[in-house]
Amino acid sequence: MPATLHFRSFCSNSAGNCLALWTGQTCVLFDCGIGTLRDCRDLLRRQHGLLDPVAALIVSHAHRDHLSRQALRVMGEQAIPIHCHRKVLPQLRERNGLDGRTSSPLRAFGDEGITIGEFRITPVALSHAPDTPCFGFVVRAALGNRRRRIVIATDFRNPSTLLPHLRGADFVFLEANHDVELLRKHFNYASQWHLNNGQAASLLARAFAATGDAPGRTAPGNVVLGHLSEDRNDDSLALREVRRAFARCGVKPGFELETAPKYQPSRIIEIV
Ligand SMILES: [Zn+2]
Repeated sequence: MPATLHFRSFCSNSAGNCLALWTGQTCVLFDCGIGTLRDCRDLLRRQHGLLDPVAALIVSHAHRDHLSRQALRVMGEQAIPIHCHRKVLPQLRERNGLDGRTSSPLRAFGDEGITIGEFRITPVALSHAPDTPCFGFVVRAALGNRRRRIVIATDFRNPSTLLPHLRGADFVFLEANHDVELLRKHFNYASQWHLNNGQAASLLARAFAATGDAPGRTAPGNVVLGHLSEDRNDDSLALREVRRAFARCGVKPGFELETAPKYQPSRIIEIV
């Protein structure tokens, strides 16, 4: 049977984020800001169609919507290691009342990243809130003799940093946090640390619009927009910005484009 690679978002909003990538052998979660013990246990128990077991949880930064206390506890119960960049580890410990001597599932990796099963995960430093180290991830999946490249990036405000990593991606999960008009109506100080729809759209256009007609595969198969704000964004606004950015370049997006549901699991996407 050919090796497969799948993606699903379980929730993607300002109160909780959790994504999964899995092959036939390895399942890795990215962030787990699920806010109740029951929901965390339920995710791992039923895994909504995923394969057992979850090999690891990779955490982008120390904000609660990316690693909740409940998720930390449940990962510990299930002996699932939680990996983060070594710059994130001290904050995760501090915010969860752990010192270096207390046993916990938290583990650190450096700039070289980490290998989990068929996944090679490399961190990309992003600029988010002050004094909050935050990382996106380039994930290379080895599927027999095929290689796939996935980019996951939320919670940042410097789109240029991510641009070189997007080129050649087969799948992209990207933050489109807010619409600037809605932010004016419903001001939120913390929104400035996030990518707005226009920034996400122009980043995608810079990465992929110019290469839309080039021979060979230059655009990803799928782009999923995530971390949409409850009061300051909606699906149609985020999608429209991306289509407009590509239209300004005279092309249509050469990928399937969708948003991750804020509170429900997304559809399962096969990354081919
Ligand atoms: Zn954050």
